[in-house]
Amino acid sequence: MRRASRFRIVIVMATCGSFGFADEVGQEISPWMPGTMEIHQISTGRGNSGLYIFPDGTTLLVDAGEMIRKTERHTPDRPDGTRRAGEWITRYIRHALRHAPAPVLDYALLTHFHEDHIGEGTQDSPLASNDAYRLSGITEVGDKLPIGTLLDRGWPEYSFPTPQTAGFITNYRAFVTWKVANAGLKTEAFRPGRNDQVTLRRNAKAYPEFEFRNLGANGIIWTGTGTETRSCIPPLDTQPRGDWPDENLLSISFRIRYGAFTYFNGGDIRGVPYSGAPGWHDLETPIAKVAGPADAAILNHHGYLDSMNATFVSALQARVWVISVWDSAHPTGSVFQRLLSSRLYPGPRDVFATDLHEGARLVVGGIEKRLASAHGHIVIRVAPGGKEYRVLIVDDSSESHRITKISGPYASKGK
Ligand SMILES: [Zn+2]
Repeated sequence: MRRASRFRIVIVMATCGSFGFADEVGQEISPWMPGTMEIHQISTGRGNSGLYIFPDGTTLLVDAGEMIRKTERHTPDRPDGTRRAGEWITRYIRHALRHAPAPVLDYALLTHFHEDHIGEGTQDSPLASNDAYRLSGITEVGDKLPIGTLLDRGWPEYSFPTPQTAGFITNYRAFVTWKVANAGLKTEAFRPGRNDQVTLRRNAKAYPEFEFRNLGANGIIWTGTGTETRSCIPPLDTQPRGDWPDENLLSISFRIRYGAFTYFNGGDIRGVPYSGAPGWHDLETPIAKVAGPADAAILNHHGYLDSMNATFVSALQARVWVISVWDSAHPTGSVFQRLLSSRLYPGPRDVFATDLHEGARLVVGGIEKRLASAHGHIVIRVAPGGKEYRVLIVDDSSESHRITKISGPYASKGK
């Protein structure tokens, strides 16, 4: 009798402790389960890549970067340099989707056309077996895993503000053209304002409290009413050529809500214009008005010096901040100071970095002690219904998928 009641207590604790998952530090992360939403920021040391698993199992890959030309200023490759980033990302996805009979990416979304977000197919990168494109970042992941719908900011013309002709973009476009013609890939331009472009593909009726809202792209931003948008970039013919928007400024941004939980991703948008640049180069401020507040968010532009302005930080008031690091300036000291500032918003907050660079540790005083985690894949696991969530850090030095830290549970703030 006594033995039976003890057994029951242990089971109840393990079940309630992490929404039905029996996750423990030192153990392999448990597989996704229906009703749960997961956001995996994958640590490769070579750019951004995030795998999202929605409550019904619909999958979304946000970026698959691969910087090839690296220096001491950059973080080491993770787990190591024996494989390309696209291979590591694919292998990570296969493991994270091991609950599925065959892993599929229902959606892939590319926030903007930079190497650390889409890959850098060079002449040294291997050709795909169809000879149509070279394998690097998204072209490698998309070569190895089926993608349903691809969303980017340029389809089909890839001509704003000027024709996209850089070699790595030409390679990406060759991949898209081939997949559309030969593999049934659907490609769409990301439409700001809409909340029906990324939807639950498997069982939407079971999760009416889920919403994916397109906030911005190409300087066009949702107003917060219906699907209405406005342009935050003046007509280009009224602007000197040197002030035209750069690629970062044109990044896609979006917001995900699941019940009381809200998440934000803004690619590499800017909030701190460079000296002498026009005020409209601050896109964080108009986006913050329709994005915030959020429970969790990834830092814009990796927390570089032109990002995360005071208005944006105080509007989002995130409890959990995620930094995707590949450089010694991710984040800069001023950005880190704003993130932790109780003048900008009250209450505690935890900041997680994929792989802090030694240079940042030396320059940004005390950063390692003040980060909730400095190394590892960052997995936000939202409980069924969205009322609470945890952050699991997973070892990125090997493919053990071993948990090194569990933070939370955090209570979601509500709509
Ligand atoms: Zn970037």
